[in-house]
Amino acid sequence: MSLNHYFCCQRNCDMKSICVFCGSSMGNDPVYAKDAARLGEIMGKQGFRLVFGGSNIGLMTVIADAVLANGGEVVGVMPENLVARNIVHKQLTQFYTVADMAERKQLMGDLSDAFVAMPGGFGTLDELAEVLTWLQLELMDKPVAVLNTKGYFDHFLKFLDHARDEKFLRVEHRQNIVVQDNPDDLLSSLIKFVPVPVYSKWVDELKKESGI
Ligand code: AMP
Repeated sequence: MSLNHYFCCQRNCDMKSICVFCGSSMGNDPVYAKDAARLGEIMGKQGFRLVFGGSNIGLMTVIADAVLANGGEVVGVMPENLVARNIVHKQLTQFYTVADMAERKQLMGDLSDAFVAMPGGFGTLDELAEVLTWLQLELMDKPVAVLNTKGYFDHFLKFLDHARDEKFLRVEHRQNIVVQDNPDDLLSSLIKFVPVPVYSKWVDELKKESGI
């Protein structure tokens, strides 16, 4: 029995590949890299494959190195224009070059069974918003989690609460985001989490609210 099969049976799910969105920067506190390394370590040890942006910079390279060092596989997906800038991680198990950022997100999504956002900037926020929108529209039913290292996402999560209170975000959609402040709890929560499908009810209510 393969390691992947063993762990899949243990957790009774099909989750094999986890896509991690995270900074192409390191941040200003070593705790960010420490959490990236820990998440990579436990993913590698537990037989999860990492899908990520494929680069050798920032937290992205920290997590990729840690997964590889702990026996895991790492798949990178990068648009042509970034490949040309010589920032491809050299040790990847598999690497895909795609035409643009949109194609990259689609392929990362197709290759993954779950998504994690770690601290990062616009790139990370764009990727997180994309998968949350897929979840909201039931274009996928895969879990999405935020690793809230050092409270990095506190303001963002507060903003989402505000959007929910102002009725631009449904309560159920807000609740579909797994949030943990350390990598160990994050991985165990992600494995157990089943997102609640709510689109049909939601769109009916939106129609009513808009008078149609
Ligand atoms: P940021 O959060 O703005 O640092 O962007 C990092 C996220 O966007 C990662 O999850 C990547 O998928 C993507 N990305 C942005 N910049 C790069 C880059 N230079 N190399 C690879 N991926 C990048």
